[in-house]
Amino acid sequence: MYSIRSEAIFDAAHRLPDYPGKCSCIHGHTYRAIFDMKFDASDINLSIKPFIMDFGSFKKIIKDLVDVWDHTIVLYEKDPIIASMLDADLNTIGGLGLVTMKHIPSAENMVTQLVREFIIAYASYAPKFVLKDWEIMSGEKILPMTIFVTLYETPTNAVTFSRKYNGKNS
Ligand SMILES: [Zn+2]
Repeated sequence: MYSIRSEAIFDAAHRLPDYPGKCSCIHGHTYRAIFDMKFDASDINLSIKPFIMDFGSFKKIIKDLVDVWDHTIVLYEKDPIIASMLDADLNTIGGLGLVTMKHIPSAENMVTQLVREFIIAYASYAPKFVLKDWEIMSGEKILPMTIFVTLYETPTNAVTFSRKYNGKNS
């Protein structure tokens, strides 16, 4: 098993509506998202391709994913507070940076979204990439892998979610 890792940090505000505590107030975190891609060693031949995936490409995928949330307020799309924000035109005053999610923006739901979107990006990335023959390809097939994402909401609290991608023909 080979595992390659990269991570990104982003700042965002959120709230958990109806939560019986202070997390129902809008508050901010410096999130740390650690991405681990795990590959079966039998799929890898380093004598032909000396690396699995260029770290620059890996980081680009991650940065594109977390930039959607960086310096924004992430809210559940049915959060009633949104209506009052829009009524007050806060989204245009000073750039409120409101981003909505289909689910309540807990670390669990955010990490699930990161995993789902990472797989979509990974699966579509290789064919676009100039060095595709050098990375994440095994012949004409994109390498299978399992992605683990650990999202730290605070320096000491994190959630990890993983999903397997079975590879596909490009
Ligand atoms: Zn929070």
